[in-house]
Amino acid sequence: MAESGPGEQEIVFVGQVDLGGVFRGKGVLGHEWPYRCRWGVGWPPANIMQTPFGVLADNDFGSRGDVFIVPDPATRTSIAATADGPGVQVAFGHLRTADGAPWECCPRAFLETALAELEQEAGLRLKGAFEHEFLYSGLEHRPGDPFSLGAFRRIAPFADRLVAALARAGVAAETVIPEYAPQQVEVPIVPAIGLAIADQSALFREVVRAVAESFGERASFTPIGEAGGVGSGAHFHFSLLDRDGRPAMYDGTSATGLSRVAASFVAGIRRRLPDFVAITAPTVLSYERLQPHRWSAAYNTLAIRDREAALRICPVRPDTGRPEAEQFNVEFRATDGSANPYLVLGVLVRAGLEGIRAGLAPDTALEVDPESLSPEELRRLGVERLPTTLAAALDRFAIDGRNLLPAGLADAFLTVKRAEVASLDGLPPAALAARYRAVF
Ligand code: GLU
Ligand code: MG
Repeated sequence: MAESGPGEQEIVFVGQVDLGGVFRGKGVLGHEWPYRCRWGVGWPPANIMQTPFGVLADNDFGSRGDVFIVPDPATRTSIAATADGPGVQVAFGHLRTADGAPWECCPRAFLETALAELEQEAGLRLKGAFEHEFLYSGLEHRPGDPFSLGAFRRIAPFADRLVAALARAGVAAETVIPEYAPQQVEVPIVPAIGLAIADQSALFREVVRAVAESFGERASFTPIGEAGGVGSGAHFHFSLLDRDGRPAMYDGTSATGLSRVAASFVAGIRRRLPDFVAITAPTVLSYERLQPHRWSAAYNTLAIRDREAALRICPVRPDTGRPEAEQFNVEFRATDGSANPYLVLGVLVRAGLEGIRAGLAPDTALEVDPESLSPEELRRLGVERLPTTLAAALDRFAIDGRNLLPAGLADAFLTVKRAEVASLDGLPPAALAARYRAVF
């Protein structure tokens, strides 16, 4: 992150990821930066009512009112696809009302509040990173590609430029993976703490897109690239830290490895997942991905090292020089790159905190395929099939999930997403895949 302000002529794009999952905002001129950091840039409230396709949903704000995107100067960084390319400066902002208060519909403020509650009430902080899978059009598909050196060789120039561009933006890549699906790539990143986790995810997506475009190609985070194809997830690996930054998630003597407080947190997420999955899997295609036997998450299950689980306990290894408590993390798999990372983390934290408040008992990890269980067995285990369409997930959220969000934010989200569903009605699968691939 740069330390001084931008030069006179430079432009900093100030914005945030909106309810449709798109980074939107306005460019601020360098000579106005200090003033804009106080005043912000004007933003009609109705602007947040856009579907990912940039169409305004019918809404009550209409042409009236003003909120302000106020830059968070510490987040200013640049998205420069090449070392000598011009790049674009960006900063994340909060949406504030005219009197400076956080606006109820601001996703970033929602997450900030949820994290503050977690820290105040439970003395815990969230650490984690999204592990994004995406499709890179520059990777010509050949049979036998998954995880092969051949595929890696063909993305190596893109990967080199991407890793460098991510570092310039303040995002540290961990590995580069030619993934299973045609044209699919995955680049896990180093975890961050708190609000920065979501900022890093938003930056990651924009840097990947910019670097792909610098090769004349496209990268897409759509959950499904082509009708019937393999999905792309944005698995969220997380752990909890205490107020002093020490790991608070691990207890090597418990059945799952989760500490008592973390077990309640995870049980809270698991219990509420069907209520809020519309937030974490927010597009029509997200539900093509959340199908059984697709290594995503079709049920609200907790399991140890099983990639069909919504919540997967990840392995720890002894003798690696890194304490097991530091390695230990849980992977939330029921989300993808069409989701707003601020809303995703906000609902996870609030559902987890509910679990802590209620002192929920640790869940037993499921050891079998939920598809093999009868309805009675599923009920007894408190396991349910997640909603199978976005429309159904939104109906469930409207009744059972909305109390996880401020009322205005929940209403706005439902309005935008229901407009999105309506706008895609009747589209053949190939056209649907192409539309989402183009915007995400
Ligand atoms: N592509 C799978 C998904 O849709 C995940 C595969 C993996 O475990 O990396 O989530
Ligand atoms: Mg993967």
